[in-house]
Amino acid sequence: MTNKNRLIATALTLVSLLALTACGNNAEQATSSPSAGQPPQETFEWKLVTSWPKNFPGLGQGPETFSRYVEEMSGGRLKVKVYGAGELVPGFEVFDAVRLGTVEMGHSGAYYWKGKMPAAPIFSAIPFGMNSQEMNGWLHYGGGLELWQELYKPFGVIPFSGGNSGVQMAGWFKKEINSVEDLKGLKMRIPGLGGEVLQKLGGLPVTLTGGELFTSLQTGAIDATEWVGPYNDLAFGLYKAADFYYYPGWHEPGTALEFIVNEKVFNALPKDLQSIVKVATRAVNQDMLDEYTARNNNAMEKLIEEHGVEMRPLPDDVMQALKQATEEVIAEQKAADPMFEKVMTSYQDFYNKIKKYHRVSEQEYYLKR
Ligand code: CA
Repeated sequence: MTNKNRLIATALTLVSLLALTACGNNAEQATSSPSAGQPPQETFEWKLVTSWPKNFPGLGQGPETFSRYVEEMSGGRLKVKVYGAGELVPGFEVFDAVRLGTVEMGHSGAYYWKGKMPAAPIFSAIPFGMNSQEMNGWLHYGGGLELWQELYKPFGVIPFSGGNSGVQMAGWFKKEINSVEDLKGLKMRIPGLGGEVLQKLGGLPVTLTGGELFTSLQTGAIDATEWVGPYNDLAFGLYKAADFYYYPGWHEPGTALEFIVNEKVFNALPKDLQSIVKVATRAVNQDMLDEYTARNNNAMEKLIEEHGVEMRPLPDDVMQALKQATEEVIAEQKAADPMFEKVMTSYQDFYNKIKKYHRVSEQEYYLKR
């Protein structure tokens, strides 16, 4: 081979090697990145504000779990940063922050918004109303969620169920409740319709966020408070501020929590991320109830055995009076607000039917097991 031919051969080899390498790279790209040639997927970073202290057991854990589920399921395309009450906005301004788009999401309880929408408490808890299992049935298979979405629609806010506490406790009282007379003048922190029922019997309902309860009770600014149940009440140390722990939580027999999302922000999400948000809220809805179901028991034991708490049932005649007053409050609210009437009619229809079946199933079983 002449020098010239040798050079040509080397050049040809190099060219073919380069060509092969280039092919190899292309092939590798095609397998490692199926979206090659498409624009990168958009990522979203949201803020979620709550009405609870950051990482509070149960209530505050729900939004943290939601955030983790969403980030994992979306491969990091949707990240949700959770803020406790007062970190970005006060606990009672969660709805407005979402409505105004200051933040994308919130986690709270619908009964805190009864000043804006009289029907809102129906989506948290109705005194002597449905328990958690029945509430979930109504919300997801009985038309409840659709009505809830209709109620929030004028505010540009979309609600999803966001957990449930199960039957709560009647609360912590600094003095004994032996008769209906003892409710007169009683200054008690109690939200939603329960507060209006207490007022009918001469009590003075007060609204406070969870973080304010202990000090208010300890200083005597209030005579009594309800919060949730043993697991959450132990966490706030309420047993140090009042002697009597009454049951059952007639005013909150299965309180539903809520996730709320700014409608415009939600509609701007790709469909798969919208679905991830929905599925994560539904998963947390069940998960929170599971956590309360598992943890209230040990907490109750600790309250009684380690802290000497005395648990008492509310007297039958007090319960009867509260139930009677509840019926009056509900009738008044139905007459006063068309949306309350519409939502409550759906709730009561469902409740009356489920009560019949649960009388021979859940209820009968509880009595016999
Ligand atoms: Ca409560």
